[in-house]
Amino acid sequence: MNLKSYDYLIVGAGITAIVLAERLCTQKNKNILIVEKRDHIGGNCYDYINKAGVLIHKYGPHYFRTNSEKVLKYLSDFTSWHPFDYEIRAWTEKRFWNFPVNLNTFEQLIEKPSSTAEMEAWLKENRVPIANPKNSEEVILNQVGKELYEKFFLGYTQKQWRCHPTELDKSVCGRIPIRTNRDNRYLNDRFQALPKDGYTEMFNKMISSCGGKLKIILDCNYQKLSSSIRWNHMIYTGPIDCYYKYCFGKLPYRSLRFEHESYTPQEIVGLNNNFYGGYYQPTVQVNYPNDYKFTRIVEIKHATGQDCPNTTIVKEYPDDYSGLNEPYYPVPNTSSKVIFNKYRRLAIKEKNITFLGRLANYKYYNMDQVVALALKYTESK
Ligand code: FAD
Ligand code: UDP
Repeated sequence: MNLKSYDYLIVGAGITAIVLAERLCTQKNKNILIVEKRDHIGGNCYDYINKAGVLIHKYGPHYFRTNSEKVLKYLSDFTSWHPFDYEIRAWTEKRFWNFPVNLNTFEQLIEKPSSTAEMEAWLKENRVPIANPKNSEEVILNQVGKELYEKFFLGYTQKQWRCHPTELDKSVCGRIPIRTNRDNRYLNDRFQALPKDGYTEMFNKMISSCGGKLKIILDCNYQKLSSSIRWNHMIYTGPIDCYYKYCFGKLPYRSLRFEHESYTPQEIVGLNNNFYGGYYQPTVQVNYPNDYKFTRIVEIKHATGQDCPNTTIVKEYPDDYSGLNEPYYPVPNTSSKVIFNKYRRLAIKEKNITFLGRLANYKYYNMDQVVALALKYTESK
């Protein structure tokens, strides 16, 4: 048998894997094999040009943001950026609201001009003071009180996670900023921009820089790899419970179903008479906390700045994870923590396997966080 040997086998070809491979090949002179079960690289960050000619994010909107100079400097070697302050709206009670909650939202609520001081006084009166918020309901009630919690958070969270916010870690709803100024941006991070030509293009540059030291096999579950392939160390970026054959039980995940609709400029005129400047909706994302079965509609062309006549919208329907669809979200709660810690204790003992990434570490990581983890790992080698 013709044996083929690699320094590293990396399972998965998401952003974690590609950063790892690029660093290990170009900085540590290692031979790498990546095995990915999907038919493309990039994991959930994958983007592509659809039949309407629109650059879209296949697995939901991926707004790159970071406070890390190091992560930004690293990725900037492989892409230039299209700066964009992600601004969204929430639709409820038959109207658009500024969201996340800020002074503009407050003015919509009280239906008259206001000030930061007035909003702060209102919050003081209406918030439910909770010294140490323990869950996603308490963290919001403590900041804004019942009315705004019920308007924007309760329904959305129940749809997305199919549980009550009291059953979710405070970090879930705690991700969303609350402001008393007029900052309308969805996120707080200093740097907010998309890779100018898309994520997949950025990943292709990273892969090209590895030359012949990196081989990628797509459409292949690593468990089906030929026995003629050998490696010294494995980095696993898939779901950790799957790796250990669910010996401590299944970890909970939430999945999504995406519905795409594309429109020509003429169709947009027919829909809204070009009310949103040729777009379907006013902002890149509109959240629907209380109406419909989907949680949000994303029109990514707002953010990519692509020069293209057509536009595409994507409706996001939360779904149970069945094992046949994708495990998009770890579910941060008390019982999943107990199960994950059992797997983690096994993982720590492994000599020749490292678990890295959103699914392998079972953490609600953003892209910049997994890039930072991958850089740290490769620096230690
Ligand atoms: P993944 O992208 O999940 O890659 C893991 C890969 O492993 C997958 O491609 C999978 O197919 C493969 N794999 C699994 N098992 C096997 C196997 N047995 N054999 C072979 N291959 C296998 N982050 C942000 O910073 N900003 C955002 O706006 C943002 N929006 C998001 C929206 C959605 C809907 C989702 C789901 C996530 C979002 N994220 C966002 C988070 C971001 O997607 C993750 O941080 C990032 O993709 C994690 O990368 P990863 O490589 O660890 O995991
Ligand atoms: N959330 C909410 N209402 C909103 C937006 C978010 O209740 O309008 C809550 C909800 O529980 C959601 C979480 O905050 O799952 C995190 O939202 P984010 O937009 O960061 O989710 P992601 O983009 O990761 O799906």
